[in-house]
Amino acid sequence: MALDLPTSLSPSKVSTYTDCALSFRFSAIDKIPQPPTVATVKGTLVHAALERLLALDAQGRTVDAAIACLADATALLDSDPEWEELALNADEQAQFFRDADLLVRKYFDLEDPTRIEPIGLELHVEHELPVKSGASVTLRGIIDRLERDTNGQLVVSDYKTGKAPAEGYQQSRLTGVHIYAYLCEQIYGERPAKVQLLYLGGSPTIVETTPTEQSTRQIERKVTSIWSAIETACERDDFRPKKSKLCNWCSYQQWCPAFGGDPDAARAAFEGIDRPERPNGFRQP
Ligand code: SF4
Repeated sequence: MALDLPTSLSPSKVSTYTDCALSFRFSAIDKIPQPPTVATVKGTLVHAALERLLALDAQGRTVDAAIACLADATALLDSDPEWEELALNADEQAQFFRDADLLVRKYFDLEDPTRIEPIGLELHVEHELPVKSGASVTLRGIIDRLERDTNGQLVVSDYKTGKAPAEGYQQSRLTGVHIYAYLCEQIYGERPAKVQLLYLGGSPTIVETTPTEQSTRQIERKVTSIWSAIETACERDDFRPKKSKLCNWCSYQQWCPAFGGDPDAARAAFEGIDRPERPNGFRQP
């Protein structure tokens, strides 16, 4: 039986499909929720703190203000179902908050926030991208920060709370921000002068590049060909597992045929179950 097509694509869906088509089916088509992890909840909290910091007047963006923003964002955890699901004990909670505090402080090693001129924070962007079948697909995402540099040109920034990858793998991690650059060009008629990933974990590092006509066309081709592959896979109900080291962290392993599971059993188990909403101020998963 043919599967329903997803309603849209985003940088994270493109990345999931590229890593493993079956994992994409579980998350984007069957909509099977993935349990929260300490890393994902901490990442959401630090993003919320930095969003609040950059929303302040430039001169007020101090380390003390950032820690106050983190405290403000932390208050949201009281009503956050993902935080509740983690069920951390007192020691684990203390470590969680120490880590979040350190990540926010390390942000200041990367840049001086008083010099940033944001024009959008947690900015929702979307565009109808024509695809080979003659229809279109909604390409959407949320840009952590869109700003103008000192020359008045657009810059797309994305925060990462993990460590920067080794040099040989850095460019491949930029696909998501290249998609955001493509969306900016379609929506605002301007190609950003720079896209950058701000890694706060380990030794804080910025990985950046300049989008070009060629990178824009490559992104367009990549997204349209992924969408064609998804259409075909949905028609044939044929999303295949791709084993890799990512399987070690995959929450779908029990339903994956590569590990002796049955994907249809997963769909049946989660039919009609919705994930609870997160409180205002936290990005929805
Ligand atoms: S366990 Fe591995 S192969 Fe199976 S769905 Fe997850 S990532 Fe894909």
